[in-house]
Formats: sequence, structure tokens, C-alpha cells
Amino acid sequence: MVTLSLVVPCFNEQESIPLFYKEAYEILKNLEQKSIYSEIIFVDDGSKDNTAKIIEEISQNDDRVHYIVFSRNFGKEAALLAGLQKATGLYVVTLDADLQDPPALIPQMLEPVMSGAFDCAGTRRVTRKGEPPIRSFFARMFYRIMGTLTDIEVVDGARDFRLMNRFYVNAILSLPERSRFSKGIFPWVGFRTKWFEYENIQRAAGETKWSFWKLFLYSLDGIIAFSTKPLAIASVLGVLLFLLSLGFIVFIVIRKSIWGDPVAGWASTACLILFCAGVQLFTTGILGAYLSKTYTEVKQRPYYVIRLEK
Ligand code: UDP
Ligand code: MG
Repeated sequence: MVTLSLVVPCFNEQESIPLFYKEAYEILKNLEQKSIYSEIIFVDDGSKDNTAKIIEEISQNDDRVHYIVFSRNFGKEAALLAGLQKATGLYVVTLDADLQDPPALIPQMLEPVMSGAFDCAGTRRVTRKGEPPIRSFFARMFYRIMGTLTDIEVVDGARDFRLMNRFYVNAILSLPERSRFSKGIFPWVGFRTKWFEYENIQRAAGETKWSFWKLFLYSLDGIIAFSTKPLAIASVLGVLLFLLSLGFIVFIVIRKSIWGDPVAGWASTACLILFCAGVQLFTTGILGAYLSKTYTEVKQRPYYVIRLEK
């Protein structure tokens, strides 16, 4: 009987996985002495290197190790979902393969959840040491915007390193949406979360898969997935512009009746046309973003395709 499942998404992590397994192995051995039996589920998210082979080898020598290999790269969110669906443990912990989420914290995280005081143990990093300042700046901005635009509380610096009980996992799995923005889904399901804080840790080997642009698009996804307020912004802008135009009409009528002045005003007309066209395109863009999300949801494609599984 499995008590604890470790779900580990991996994308081109051939250097990290042996290091991760070595560290996790020791911790799981200690837990076993307390009759807490574990399984590790590696999800290979279509790696181009030897990740799949390494995972298979580990699994051959240790039957607590299971794996899913995707047919191509589907993204970390899909990998996490596949792992959660496969996990059989009463408790499930999701963590990165690069040791940025220290497995040594797992026993500590288990305590409040196993005792029933909390349903989930979450982690957040309190520093962003080793990260480019511009990225930290945009990250802060993102949490601010999320805070204003949505009703859920997205915790600043919260990582995907989480230990959850069965109720929590089932709640996550019950959300059917295709665009899976974990940072929003976790607070959306609610429950009682105990937070653990730690300093940012550099990855053990390999390099980050997140470019600035990828992160930017991901944050837009998050906003669209959890807020419809941008749509309201379009209407508000429309009303504001209408009121502004009323003021303008009064101004122009009065000026014309007092001074005449039939030809002047080319510059202001050009500015107005450009301004209005800009606002219209901006709001159409917002509409388009929601439409495209609706389109992907309606198609109901599977979240991922599995090439190998054990
Ligand atoms: N990952 C994944 N699919 C992807 C990108 C990343 O499964 O398309 C995994 C990756 O192997 C790692 C975790 O997600 O275990 C976090 O990725 P990374 O360390 O690159 O992100 P960072 O820690 O820099 O935010
Ligand atoms: Mg990392």
C-alpha cells in the first residue's frame, strides 16, 4: 500500500535525474522506517536527451519507480496532470527534477498534512537570488496584476512544490479545463494550506526551460484563465471614450459658432483617428484572447499523448 507519491515532471533532465534519485532515495528510506511507503512517478515531457532511458533504468532496479513518457513536449502543466492522475498514494507531492525543490523538506511537509491539521503543504521562496532583476520585476508585477484582476489569491513566490492529501488531489483532478494554470488552480480549489518558506536554490544541473517570452505568455494565460475583468475593461474604455467625445462635441460646436474656423483641426482629427483605432484594436485583441481560449477548450483535445508507461 502506497502512502506517498512523488510526481516529478522532467524535460531534458538527464544530468539532474540521477542526482535527484540519489537524494530522494535516502529520504524515502528514512520514511519507510516509519512505515510510510512511497512511489516515484517520473513524467518525461518529451525530452530530446537520454531522460527517458535513465528513468527506465532506474525503474528496472527499483520497483517503486514508475514512469510516463510523452510522445512529445506538452509542457510542465500537462506533465504534472499526468503524474497526479497516475499517483496512487494517499498523499502526493509534486516537485521538480532539478533539486530546486529540496526533497529533504518532504518529511517536514508531511507532518501537518498527515496529522489532519492541513490539507496541503505549499512552499514559497522568499528570495529570488540568482535571478535576473528584470525577471524579478516582471514577476512582482504579475502577482500584483493577478491580485487586482482575480478573486483568487495567487501567493507571491509560490512554487509547484506541494504536498497534498487525497481530497485535494481529487479536487484538482476534477477541474476539466485544458489551459491548466496551476498557480491559479491550487488557490481556486481552496482547502487549508500550510506554507513553508525557503531561499531560492540554483538548479543542480542543466538549465532552465523558461525563456522570458514563455513566462510572459504563461502569465497572460493565467490572467485569462482566472479573470474576465479584461473584458469589462473593453466596455469601460468604450464608455469613457463616449463621454470624452460628448465633451469634445460641445467644445467644437461652441468654438465653431464663435470663431468660425472651418479648415484648422487636421492634426487633432488625425490624432483622434489613431487613438480610437488603437483602442479598438486593443479591445478586439482582448476579445480574441478569450475567443482563442474558448476554441481550445471546445476542441476537447487530450492533455497529452503517452508513448511509454510503467
Ligand atoms: N519541465 C517540464 N516540461 C517543460 C518544461 C519544464 O516537465 O516543458 C520540468 C523541468 O524538467 C523541471 C520543472 O518542470 O523539472 C521546472 O522547470 P525549470 O527548472 O526549467 O523551471 P524553473 O525552475 O527555472 O522555473
Ligand atoms: Mg528549476
